[in-house]
Amino acid sequence: MEKSISEIEKEALTRLENTTETEEIKELSLHYLGRKGVLTKFLRNVSSLPENERPIAGKNANILKSTLDIAFNNVLKELESTKDDNVAGIDVTLPGRSCKRGSLHPITQISNEISDIFLRLGFDIAQSPEVETDYYNFEALNIPKYHPARAMQDTFYISENIVLRTHTSPSQPRTMEKTDPPVRIISPGKVFRCDSDLTHTPMFHQVEGLMVDKGVSFGDLKGLLTTFIHQIFDNKTSLRFRPSFFPFTEPSAEVDIRCVICRGKGCRVCSRTGWIEILGAGMVHPAVFEKIGYDTDKYTGFAFGMGIERIAMLKYGIDDTRKFFENDIRFLRQF
Ligand SMILES: [Zn+2]
Repeated sequence: MEKSISEIEKEALTRLENTTETEEIKELSLHYLGRKGVLTKFLRNVSSLPENERPIAGKNANILKSTLDIAFNNVLKELESTKDDNVAGIDVTLPGRSCKRGSLHPITQISNEISDIFLRLGFDIAQSPEVETDYYNFEALNIPKYHPARAMQDTFYISENIVLRTHTSPSQPRTMEKTDPPVRIISPGKVFRCDSDLTHTPMFHQVEGLMVDKGVSFGDLKGLLTTFIHQIFDNKTSLRFRPSFFPFTEPSAEVDIRCVICRGKGCRVCSRTGWIEILGAGMVHPAVFEKIGYDTDKYTGFAFGMGIERIAMLKYGIDDTRKFFENDIRFLRQF
């Protein structure tokens, strides 16, 4: 016997460690495990050993044989798999897979457009929570409990005093509490009401606007809204103010625009009237200022609120508000 089993093992594993080529490993395998391999020869010669050494030597040689067999195969497999990663994994001749580009949702686009117009007019953007307390959603806006105006808004109640905000108006008291006049903010966002049909979805979007300062008048409100409507639609779009009622403004008005589809001649969209209601507005009710602690002799202000879906529908000629939220890619791809 020239070499002991442990010497053969040490030598074989060292050589395996220093090998990186598949062919070399196959040669190594032959060298040790082949028909004329080192281990095979060793096993064949076991019978020439002294009788008491034979069983141990044979057993150890067999163990080494299977150990080496596993080791060679493992290294071979590892080399094959890294070869796959490097070569077979990337076929540079294949045509590329194009990445489909999305776009902003039409509501987001219109909301951004509205915000841009008011930012240019010197307004800031204020946000308020979508889950709101009864106080900010109603009380602070001069809508006490059991006030009939609460029935106009089908409210989602989380608990007795927590609601999903039914309008973006809570941003008014929330902003005024933190700021002294002058205040000039808009507040775009989601609002929620239990309502679902052709013109209503349980979740929709509004933009609230508020301006408070010394000597702010209804004329300022009219001027601002006219400028806004001309920028979001076009210069030829005329406005009409109709008296209305909101608990938190006095006087209040609903604002219509000349139908942008038929230009006032009368069509299905405007119910043959030539006018389309677009927003509600008014001078901030003194009771709202008093709750905040603003001096009502010194300051006046106006507020307005509009539905973003409504403006998007008019701008894009969409007749069903639910389309915005069905996530139909064929619809969304058009914007
Ligand atoms: Zn019309």
